[in-house]
Amino acid sequence: MSESPLLSVNNLHVRFPIKAGLLQRTVGEVKAVNGISFEVNRGEAFGIVGESGCGKTTVARAILRLLEATTGNIAFEGNNISSLTGKQLAPFRRKVQAIFQDPFSSLNPRKTTLDIIGEPLRVHALAEGDGVRQRITDLLEMCELPARFMELYPHEMSGGQRQRVGIARALAMEPELIVCDEAVSALDVSIQAQIINLLEKLRQELGLTYVFIGHDLSVVRHLCNRVAVMYLGRIMETADSETLFSQPQHPYTRALLDAVPDPDPLTEAEREIEPLHGEVPNPSNPPSGCVFHTRCPVAEERCQHDAPPLVSLTPSQSAACWLVKQPFSNS
Ligand code: SF4
Repeated sequence: MSESPLLSVNNLHVRFPIKAGLLQRTVGEVKAVNGISFEVNRGEAFGIVGESGCGKTTVARAILRLLEATTGNIAFEGNNISSLTGKQLAPFRRKVQAIFQDPFSSLNPRKTTLDIIGEPLRVHALAEGDGVRQRITDLLEMCELPARFMELYPHEMSGGQRQRVGIARALAMEPELIVCDEAVSALDVSIQAQIINLLEKLRQELGLTYVFIGHDLSVVRHLCNRVAVMYLGRIMETADSETLFSQPQHPYTRALLDAVPDPDPLTEAEREIEPLHGEVPNPSNPPSGCVFHTRCPVAEERCQHDAPPLVSLTPSQSAACWLVKQPFSNS
């Protein structure tokens, strides 16, 4: 019998009211997330990618219960997280940790690493007395930082070192799931690679599960086993990483992949790229039919009024496009 998923997101909708006027009346709503579903198994790294404004960070915040689902539900270890209250919430807050884009703003500038990691260790009774320093030393070592970083303030570290401290703080809670929200986007490319390699090493050694939110497909490809591509609050395509990058089926996925530069400058110079035209439409007034039709290079007449469902193409790949049943040529 297969193990039940660690995280299940079921038909999640998140809407934000638009208020206007002196009385702040609701005049509309932003459909930030519009009916998405996915599951993440233990030990997996699940990537969510898309352009800015596609709703991926809203999904991350909903999983962390930093905002409530409008409808639908999120289950962690089989329990609907919106029904957790009081004492039930504490273990959830410990088991589900986050690593954010900007470690400088997520670490208290007036505290040393000793306090930044030591306080939650004490609050959750995960270490006490002399054991706190030893545990922090071990956590820093796991994150490839020497013990002397315990005495440093965030401003005394580089961006990559701060992100390592952020990861050590998340690990201190002995989490089951870490939500990485653009966790390497603010770092230089060489530092990004080091942090990604560290996250992968920790996943293997500690059996961690990640939901990795990002816009850089090459980063997601390196770390994630499975990937969902989001556009205007919906999942356009989901597949295991290898399939998504070698055989993308949705025109939006193909456009995103086309935009990734080839590392070989000669090949890159010869590549004919069809750029994705236009901006992501306003989520308070999304296009009718297929939400991608205003930018899709192969849109048909029906795409303007009929929204395609997300259909399974193989057991590991699904896409929401009327054309996916007639496989795209890769020419
Ligand atoms: Fe393009 Fe139509 Fe497919 Fe949407 S359904 S991605 S508009 S071809």
